[in-house]
Amino acid sequence: MSTTRWRSERLKHLGSAIFAEVGRWKAEARAAGIDVIDLGIGSPDLPPAELLREELSRQALRVDRYGYPTSRGNTAFLQQASDWLAHRFGIAMDPEHELLALMGSQDGLAHLALAITNPGDKVLLPDPGYPIYAAGAALAGVEPIYYPLREQTDFLPDLDGITEEQWREAAYMIVNIPGNPVSAVADLPFFERLLATARKYNVLIVHDLAYSEMAFDGWQPPSILQITGASDIAVEFHSLSKSFNLAGCRIGFLAGNREAVGALADLKANIDYGVFEAVQHTAIAALKADMERGSQPPVGALYQARRDRFAAALREEGWEITLPRATMFLWVKIPVLDGGTRWTSRQISREMIMQAGVAVIPGDAFGKEGEGYVRIAIVEQEERLVEAARRIGRFLRTHGLTSQVGQEEAPHAN
Ligand SMILES: *Cc1c(COP(=O)(O)O)cnc(C)c1O
Repeated sequence: MSTTRWRSERLKHLGSAIFAEVGRWKAEARAAGIDVIDLGIGSPDLPPAELLREELSRQALRVDRYGYPTSRGNTAFLQQASDWLAHRFGIAMDPEHELLALMGSQDGLAHLALAITNPGDKVLLPDPGYPIYAAGAALAGVEPIYYPLREQTDFLPDLDGITEEQWREAAYMIVNIPGNPVSAVADLPFFERLLATARKYNVLIVHDLAYSEMAFDGWQPPSILQITGASDIAVEFHSLSKSFNLAGCRIGFLAGNREAVGALADLKANIDYGVFEAVQHTAIAALKADMERGSQPPVGALYQARRDRFAAALREEGWEITLPRATMFLWVKIPVLDGGTRWTSRQISREMIMQAGVAVIPGDAFGKEGEGYVRIAIVEQEERLVEAARRIGRFLRTHGLTSQVGQEEAPHAN
């Protein structure tokens, strides 16, 4: 008999069971002796630069790094984050009131709703979207209003598609551009329109900019805070996980509206005592090194090369995919096959693991709008990605793919 005595009701609203299911498929395939190429995980596969590993070692050896840190972040880290934002985006953030250190942006995204809303409030979230947005809302007893990200609007939020009533009701709206799982791109005019609408309805815009440094073809994602007066109505999450391969160190920061930043700081002061000082100092070194380097971020160049190699290999197999202009994710439409096979995203994901030994994430793991798509993470070395493309090609041909080459157009910035 199952018991619910020590398991809260709210856990039912958290997490997507699909990720666990994909994990079981992978285990099943491996147990059957299949070599699984795992393009399902959303974690960088490379270590941080040697400079950063050395810095972390040096910091860890210091005797003065082991006290409780402060929850807000130490002065030097917040100042460095402020300097980096000025360097990278040309924006001025007051380290004391407009910045807050986080144990990864996940920490902030999980707790934001608890800090700035009341139970019963409503929030606008992307569908498909990164799962913590909905989980954070659920923890706070806040009701999500999902807005769709669809191909016909270049996978960007359709601001006119959100009703007047929804705008009026929402306490905040999360946007994630370039995003996970959909790496749509937008430039400042889009964010200007977004902020104008947000101002009209007094909705806080929460921008998740986790992929600011992982962009391609010379394009650099802007910060929403570049828009004059944005701090009146917006906050932005920054992460060192993807930009500097520091995912395991758990460090990021929030920037922008001082009331929201202060509320999250006050909440977190009751929950954690901050990021390990050695990690904060390593993050300082990462941001400093980035400012001293040229303009092309190294993770951008690396993932661009992988994207091109993988897409070219898939094209040779007869499958043309839309190239993302940022992030480590390809958001790909499930091909329609001549054999008449029509898969749901879960079916094709399972069959790809079992028959081709390639793991991807079914699109509906990110919301119902994700049905019909899969997310492929290019988190393997190029040779392994080429091998994955060959296996996918063979798998699709077995099920009736002839050729799709040239059917889709490249996305463009808005
Ligand atoms: C990886 C990721 C995060 C979380 O990053 P951390 O800073 O490591 O917590 C946040 N948002 C998106 C969209 C991500 O993909």
